[in-house]
Amino acid sequence: MPRPRLRTNFLKKIRKKLPGGGYVIHYKKRNPSLPSCAECGKSLQGVAKGRFNKIKNAAKSIKKPTRKYGGNLCANCTKKNISQNVFKS
Ligand SMILES: [Zn+2]
Repeated sequence: MPRPRLRTNFLKKIRKKLPGGGYVIHYKKRNPSLPSCAECGKSLQGVAKGRFNKIKNAAKSIKKPTRKYGGNLCANCTKKNISQNVFKS
């Protein structure tokens, strides 16, 4: 029986083989879900995935697209909204 704080579903269980043939279970934090478009809900491309402490030192251009609303809206929705002047107030 694992320790009480490990008896949860938010940790990923990984079976590691031992030289003697047995195995031990390692507990690892799950990766967050991919960011999605604020309008259509499609998952965004060109956005870094993984936990924050893994991607925080990556270059800005790797973390999200450099166009307007990059990392928030998908390319199609941005194109559509800009052509319709939705963002102008
Ligand atoms: Zn979209």
